[in-house]
Amino acid sequence: MQIKIVALNARFTHSCLALFHVRNELEKNCPGVATELCQLTINDSYYETFLRLSHGNPDYIFFSAAVWNSDRVEQLIRDLQNCLPDCGVVVGGPQAEVIGCNLAPVRCCVVSGDMEAVGGDFYRDLEQKRLQPLYGGSFLRMPDRLLLSPYREGDFLTHLRNRNIYYESSRGCPFACTYCLSSAEQGVYHKPLPQVEAELAQILHYKPSTLRFVDRTFNDQPQRALAIWKFLMTHEVATLFHFEISPDRFTEEMFTFLQTVPAGRFQFEIGVQSTHPPTLQAVNRVMDRVIALNNIKRLAALGVIHLHADLILGLPHETKESFGRSFADLFATGAHYLQMGLLKLLPGTSISRDAAGWSYVSCGSPPYAVLVNQWMEHAVLQELYWFCECVEKFVNNRYFPSLWAYLRRREEDVFVFFQDLLRLCQQQDFFRLAPTQEFMGQLLCQFIEGREDGPLLLEVLRYDWLRCGHRFLPSFLQVERAEEQPQAVKDALYQQAAAGLSGLFNGLFEKGGRNHFFKTGFFLRFSGACLRELGLSRDEGRRVVMFLSDREESVYRLHKTIVLPAC
Ligand code: SF4
Repeated sequence: MQIKIVALNARFTHSCLALFHVRNELEKNCPGVATELCQLTINDSYYETFLRLSHGNPDYIFFSAAVWNSDRVEQLIRDLQNCLPDCGVVVGGPQAEVIGCNLAPVRCCVVSGDMEAVGGDFYRDLEQKRLQPLYGGSFLRMPDRLLLSPYREGDFLTHLRNRNIYYESSRGCPFACTYCLSSAEQGVYHKPLPQVEAELAQILHYKPSTLRFVDRTFNDQPQRALAIWKFLMTHEVATLFHFEISPDRFTEEMFTFLQTVPAGRFQFEIGVQSTHPPTLQAVNRVMDRVIALNNIKRLAALGVIHLHADLILGLPHETKESFGRSFADLFATGAHYLQMGLLKLLPGTSISRDAAGWSYVSCGSPPYAVLVNQWMEHAVLQELYWFCECVEKFVNNRYFPSLWAYLRRREEDVFVFFQDLLRLCQQQDFFRLAPTQEFMGQLLCQFIEGREDGPLLLEVLRYDWLRCGHRFLPSFLQVERAEEQPQAVKDALYQQAAAGLSGLFNGLFEKGGRNHFFKTGFFLRFSGACLRELGLSRDEGRRVVMFLSDREESVYRLHKTIVLPAC
């Protein structure tokens, strides 16, 4: 029996953990079955995807369906049923039941829940080609649970080559947020630590570039999380490890350990969603928000872990004002990436059942994004959607970190700041154009022009630009006075060096000599006020900053700088 097991991933570098579990279960329960894993992407040509699946006249095609690929899965199933009437179709994953309903009466078998927990009747019916419309099973309710890593040695050189590897050290979530499909079942299963270590050792042997833990709340048991982190750091690999964490579950021991993690090795995805207490209560999100925000701040201050923090727009009880406060709270933490997505009313979630009572209206097809509710009329949601887009474009990169740090230090009202910036972006048609660093820098220069601290911020923007490694100043960041032009500053320094004013350059020529120093550096003079703001000087004097070609070992890997002594 020939079975194709299909995942339509978001991009090539992703892989699908479920596929490997399905393969193993099929081979265990139906000896003699020939399985083929097909990892495709939603961006591939539809027709070519179809040809790949129809080729060889398979007996069955298994799909894994999620919200973001379900339209395409549904279309493929319809066309496959027309073209290969004898081929059975089985669909699993979070969106399986929705697809099953949409396709009825087209024959398609839905597996709801976990493949590991499906009973023997499924495999018997599969072999006899008389599958029923629905099977189900819950791993968390199985009496003798054993959750093994589904990867085989050969997978790393084939299906997983050049892709992110996904790994679960636990299954289930201790929380029950009302908008989340994971909340349908209560309980968490944690694999024993020795098993986790043995499985991770197998994966790390192949030195993957990225290993993503899919545990819904990786640090729900802080001591266990710490033990896994410590284990990972004993391996000499350059792998980036990604974890979904709860921000209020950290111990001092964890912070102490995280200080020792080299830059670029850990990445945390942190679900905050809102800091408005009535909202958190309404969606059943259990979190100490004061501790959570403080912990994110502490993690950001370490400067070595990329922090991706999430807010959801359109939650119950969230008004424009309270969303603005949630945004400001999150911005103040210094998290590197602020993801602000629209609430999706996913079928099967508790919030989707309560939606009518809260006057929710959402899109009728995946991903079911919210359009209006009783706390936000559509026009407000629309405005905040573009607000979020504006923040994501300007903040979620390495272009302007000193500017954002300045706003944080000054306790600027960032909700107002970005609302005003949004207005300028809309006037300039920003969202229809390419959001390049140059374009965004130009808009920011225009935006700060009338401000009292405009001249200082212009210097901060120059600093951020040069820290990204540029070796020129674009027109909007030009300095006016001729003697302050970068080339003039460099020439003057060179003459001082040639004249033997060695005190000025003490120790700086050691690495490659004077010529190397001047060849590789970019020099610009900054005011004392700006240098104080940047934390580079404590006095009033103007100083030259040298921008080096070397990069820092930090999240943004910006270029190093040296402040030259007064001259
Ligand atoms: S949103 Fe996250 S924490 Fe909440 S139930 Fe879902 S997986 Fe668990």
